[in-house]
Amino acid sequence: MCGIVAYIGSKQCQQLLLEGLKRLEYRGYDSAGMAVLDGSKITLARAVGKVSNLEDKLEETGGMRGTLGLAHTRWATHGGVTEANAHPHTDDRVGIALIHNGIIENYASLKTYLEEKGHVFKSQTDTEVLAMLIGELYEGDLEKAVQAALREVTGAYSIAVICEKEPDTLVVARKGSPLMLGIGNGEFIVGSDPSAIIAHTTQAVPLEDYTVAKVTRSGFRTSDIHDVPVTPKVMQLEMDLEQIELGSFGHFMQKEIFEQPKALRNTMRGRLDTREGRVVLGGVSKFDKELTKTRRVTLTGQGTALHAAMIGEYLLEDLAKIPAVAEYASEFRYRNPIVEDNTVVIAVSQSGETADTLAALREAKERGALAMGVVNVVGSSIARETDAGVYLRVGPEIGVASTKAFVGQVAVLSMLTIYLGRKRYLSADQCADLMREMELIPEKMERILESDARIRKVTERYIDRENWLFLGRGYNYPTALEGALKLKEISYIHAEGMPAAEMKHGPIALINDGMPAVFIANRGRQYDKVMSNIQEVKARGGRIIAVATEGDEQIKRLADEVLFVPDIAEPLSPMLTVVPLQLMAYHAAVLRGHDVDKPRNLAKSVTVE
Ligand code: GLU
Repeated sequence: MCGIVAYIGSKQCQQLLLEGLKRLEYRGYDSAGMAVLDGSKITLARAVGKVSNLEDKLEETGGMRGTLGLAHTRWATHGGVTEANAHPHTDDRVGIALIHNGIIENYASLKTYLEEKGHVFKSQTDTEVLAMLIGELYEGDLEKAVQAALREVTGAYSIAVICEKEPDTLVVARKGSPLMLGIGNGEFIVGSDPSAIIAHTTQAVPLEDYTVAKVTRSGFRTSDIHDVPVTPKVMQLEMDLEQIELGSFGHFMQKEIFEQPKALRNTMRGRLDTREGRVVLGGVSKFDKELTKTRRVTLTGQGTALHAAMIGEYLLEDLAKIPAVAEYASEFRYRNPIVEDNTVVIAVSQSGETADTLAALREAKERGALAMGVVNVVGSSIARETDAGVYLRVGPEIGVASTKAFVGQVAVLSMLTIYLGRKRYLSADQCADLMREMELIPEKMERILESDARIRKVTERYIDRENWLFLGRGYNYPTALEGALKLKEISYIHAEGMPAAEMKHGPIALINDGMPAVFIANRGRQYDKVMSNIQEVKARGGRIIAVATEGDEQIKRLADEVLFVPDIAEPLSPMLTVVPLQLMAYHAAVLRGHDVDKPRNLAKSVTVE
């Protein structure tokens, strides 16, 4: 969510900060701003809307000089989208400028306290309160003032702070929202996301919760908010610049849809031992003993990750015969869940920073569950806090609407199922058969991608319809939810996904002449039932768009449009059936003229509750 970039070193930093902000644009934001310290003076610029608006403003005003600075993209939580509410925020006493991601939950009481002390606020944000508080507590040492202020604060934050009185100091801190300190050659670059750092260095320290870093041009020190030193852990960022550039594609989402075959090959590489009929998962094997005793699995996530988790639920019960349930993290964490002995909780999150998922994971751990993560971003909070985990290895996902991470999550959950199933009911041969099927998925996906132009044409025919249904059964019920979510997210068309059988219990009332109903109707155990549901919609004037198995002649006679996918074992089919739905959503958004990679109101990784 939103973004932070900060720099201290010997270079003029305005351009570098702007470039950093542009790399963070994909995360979703509504305004941007920058502060640069030159000598003993901070200059500030803020603009509503795109980073390019800020850039124009800087150009008009002659730009900023200085080698220490901060820049921010805001995703408003407290106070409307206005220039006054955009970051950086300043105090009214010492010359402090601060940027912040997250929410200061006790801002109201702090604000009253500060107002009583005579401070005058210029914005409606929670962030300005923190800037003022640091100013209020400042006694000649910025690091100490930040620590003191953070001791008073509840909520989530990653912050970067500078002060006119300390031209060689940048102070950054984190709790709840991600932040890392990139270590360059005689310079430091702070980012809320590695993509803001990677152009400058691959060495970085991901900050832990409650860590404060004081950074000067000659080095840095990390401590907690009580000034107890913390030993920094330096990590190597595994990402190259090319992975976060668009290349010849129109949008990151499109690039990432087309990258899926390659991404899945990476997800599976070295993990499928078909000769021995076993899955090799390095990050899990040290818990082999505990996992053999697994009695229950709770999978948790939000949004697309939850849909992958739901497929995981079907896989684990059907193939590994382990009772499993997938649940919204936001619900799980607050409903006083019962966690029995030998429960494994699997947190699914692309970013590894999803606030609700992280909190659900902590709740489950507190109650004795073995914590596993299915995460894309290496070194992220969830990855660090789980006992065991499997990385997706699909590369950075920039498009806000998740695509390759979804298939990566389903692939990892399929491998985990085979891994756990082998310890119980699956024979080596059954495992090997499933793995061989998995190995063929990338190639089959490539075939689906070849029909892109056709999928665009089909989408075009229904582009003026405002209400869509997505229906599926069994393994492809979550796929239906995912298809509807994709369409909603980027084309702003109202879409509902549901189990095909549920339609008769209410939503069938919505069907009117010409309403598009997308059926995931590939071959599987419930094929005939899906056919009956198709008839029911047809009889009421709905238009049928079917995702079906190649060679299915029967469906051609029934559906208005058929999008074929290659044949595949049913439990693995969502990894194929989702692809035409992703492409349909993509084309719908483009046809309607929307900014695919920056859908309105959405943020890439949701780091607030
Ligand atoms: N809560 C702050 C605000 O509304 C920060 C939002 C953000 O994370 O960008 O200004």
